[in-house]
Amino acid sequence: MSDVTTPPPAPQWPDGIRAAAALTFDLDAESPVLTADRANGRRLGVMSHQAYGPLTGVPRLLRLLERHRLRATFFVPGFTAERYPGVCSRIAEAGHEIAHHSYLHEATAGMDAATEAAMIDRGLEALDSVLGIRPVGYRAPMWEINYHTAGLLIDRGFEYDSTLMDCDVPYVLAEHDGPGARSLVEIPIHWALDDWEQYAFVPDVTGSGLIESPAKVLEMWSLELRAYHAEGGCFVLTNHPFLSGRPSRAAALEQLIEVMESLEGLWLAPLGEISRHVRSLDLTPRAFPPPDLEDQR
Ligand SMILES: [Zn+2]
Repeated sequence: MSDVTTPPPAPQWPDGIRAAAALTFDLDAESPVLTADRANGRRLGVMSHQAYGPLTGVPRLLRLLERHRLRATFFVPGFTAERYPGVCSRIAEAGHEIAHHSYLHEATAGMDAATEAAMIDRGLEALDSVLGIRPVGYRAPMWEINYHTAGLLIDRGFEYDSTLMDCDVPYVLAEHDGPGARSLVEIPIHWALDDWEQYAFVPDVTGSGLIESPAKVLEMWSLELRAYHAEGGCFVLTNHPFLSGRPSRAAALEQLIEVMESLEGLWLAPLGEISRHVRSLDLTPRAFPPPDLEDQR
C-alpha cells in the first residue's frame, strides 16, 4: 500500500503500445438541469436543448464511431436510460460500453454514504431493467466523488472509476489507508478534456457565456493528445452528446480521431478494457486519505 504522497507506479501498456486513449460520452440529457432545479422541467426550451443529445447527437456520434470502427464508453444516468430506452439500446447494440453515471446526476459533493449508496443502486436498477446491463465502470456526476465512494463501488462489484484528477495514467485505488483495504482501478480525467467547459451554455442554468470555436477546441485537445502520447499516458476525452453531437463539433471530434489514428502505438479502447489490463498488472494499490487538518480532527 502506498498513499497520496507517493506517485502511483505507471502501468506497462500491452506489447507494441506506448500510450492509451479513450473516447467517453456522458449521456446526461435532462438529468443535470433537473437536479439543479426541478422547475427546469417546465421549461420546454431547456428540455429540448438537453434532449438534443439522445435524439440528434447520439445518432450522429454513433455513425462517426462506426466510420472509424471505434468502440467508446457511454456513461448513462439511470434517468436517461428510462427516458430514452431505444437510444440507449442502440448504443449497447453497436458494441459500446455502458457505464454508470448516477441516477439523476445528483449533487454528490458531501453526500452521506447511505444516500449515495441508494443513488448508485437506483442507477444500477435502471440500467438493469432497461438494458439488462450490469456496468463495471462508474463516473461521479460533476466528478464529485467522496472518500467513501470507492468502498460503495467495490461493494457492488465495480471494477473501475473514472473521476479523479491526480495522475496522467490509470492506477489502483485503495478504498482507505487502513489494513485490509480493497481496491479498484482509477482512470483519471481532467476538465481540460471535457467539452462542457468549451461548449455548454444554457441561459440561467449553466455555462460560462462563451461558446468556443471547435477549431480552438480541436487545437487544444490535439496538443493534449500528442503530449499524452509522447509521455505514455492515458488520454481520456469526456464529451456530452447534447454538446459535441452538434455538427461542427462532431466534425472536429472526427478530426481529432484522425490524429489519434495517425499516432504510432496508441491504444484506443473503451475504459473497461483499459481497466482490465491495468488490473492484470498487479500494481500496488494507492490510498487517498483526506487532508489532516488540526481544526477538523
Ligand atoms: Zn455528467
